[in-house]
Amino acid sequence: MGIVVQKYGGSSVSDAASIKRVAQRIVATKKAGHDVVVVVSAMGDTTDELLDLAHDVSPLPDGRELDMLLTAGERISMALLAMAIGNLGQQAQSFTGSQAGVITDSAHGRAKIIDVTPGRITRAIGDGAVAIVAGFQGVSQDSKDITTLGRGGSDTTAVALAAALEADVCEIYTDVDGIFTADPRIVPAARQIPVISYEETLEMAANGAKILHLRCVEYARRNDMPIHVRSSFSSKEGTWVVSAERMSDMLSATLTNEGDGEAPVMEQAIISGVAHDRSEAKITVVGVPDKVGEAARIFETLADAQINLDMIVQNVSAAATGLTDISFTLPRADGQTAMTSLARLKDEVGYAQLQYDDGVGKISLVGAGMRTNPGISAKFFKAIADAGVNIEMISTSEIRISVVVNEQQIDDAVSAAHRAFDLDAGEVEAVVYGGSGR
Ligand code: ASP
Ligand code: MG
Repeated sequence: MGIVVQKYGGSSVSDAASIKRVAQRIVATKKAGHDVVVVVSAMGDTTDELLDLAHDVSPLPDGRELDMLLTAGERISMALLAMAIGNLGQQAQSFTGSQAGVITDSAHGRAKIIDVTPGRITRAIGDGAVAIVAGFQGVSQDSKDITTLGRGGSDTTAVALAAALEADVCEIYTDVDGIFTADPRIVPAARQIPVISYEETLEMAANGAKILHLRCVEYARRNDMPIHVRSSFSSKEGTWVVSAERMSDMLSATLTNEGDGEAPVMEQAIISGVAHDRSEAKITVVGVPDKVGEAARIFETLADAQINLDMIVQNVSAAATGLTDISFTLPRADGQTAMTSLARLKDEVGYAQLQYDDGVGKISLVGAGMRTNPGISAKFFKAIADAGVNIEMISTSEIRISVVVNEQQIDDAVSAAHRAFDLDAGEVEAVVYGGSGR
């Protein structure tokens, strides 16, 4: 049998007892005949604690040193996990990201993987050992310094290794049973999605669903590596994230089983799920003169400040005034920087005023079936209106519709949309096993 890469998140290895439990699971996979490579996150909230410590000693810690510090979290869990596996009579060896051949650029805190050369991992599994790799870290090709991939980066490590090792599957173990049609903490009737495409998962992840790191899904799509997101707290089948082609193969395989009472029949859903995001803010530039080049000037300034924008809306200018309003959303964390940069443009552009609102949230309906089914937007907006929620902005992609609403009304709007598209499960409630869901 082939290679299986398993990734365990922080909530799955939060203490000695959890580490022992995970070790048993790994040994069982190995005994079933697979070569097993494990990627592990730091225990529980270790990364947050290390970050707090860093800020206690320095308001602006140096990037190189911060990466040195944070990668220690994964070193602890990887070594403990290797010991726990050894204690079960199974050989195991732990490796740092650098030892595992995870080569990155040199952007501390948000490094990108540029190559994976897993020679030592191949040797370890060839010798019959389980290889344990520290997630979220690598080594810079140029400076040879240790780097980190950004918060939640262990998912990306796992998929990158799985691709380099040509594994059969990359299993991502977390504290929920899989990817849900909405956050079960908001919609208790949310259902687990059996199989979903990379494209839909990317839209969900980019729009606030916290289940998988965006970059990990991009990496999986590029390499066509199937991801199986599942709970380390149960043995249930989780959610498969695969290509659209593989997805229709999986769906038609279950259809031919219809009637024999074995595999559940899955249908291609028009809507996969409803994601929400509370991390954005909205800025409106009021009274912008409606002439060539003003939008370019405003957005160049924001680009120069390294701010990533999400939605942008420009109103038709009122004929009488020749002025228009431009609104956009951006990460709240960048709100201050954006306002300061725009304030400097006031005389040059000659706008009337700037408005900043961080009491907003975004709700996104995602589904590949939107391409071929009319009336989805109308139904979505109607559901939101019936819940008494006002829509402030709208944006769409081919397979997504997003709206910005008052933050206080996110939960109501998510529930309403979920119900309107018949995503509510009815009987089985989603189980959240604990942890922060990170
Ligand atoms: N430990 C890191 C974090 O908490 C990486 C990860 O968990 O994937 O962000
Ligand atoms: Mg973590």
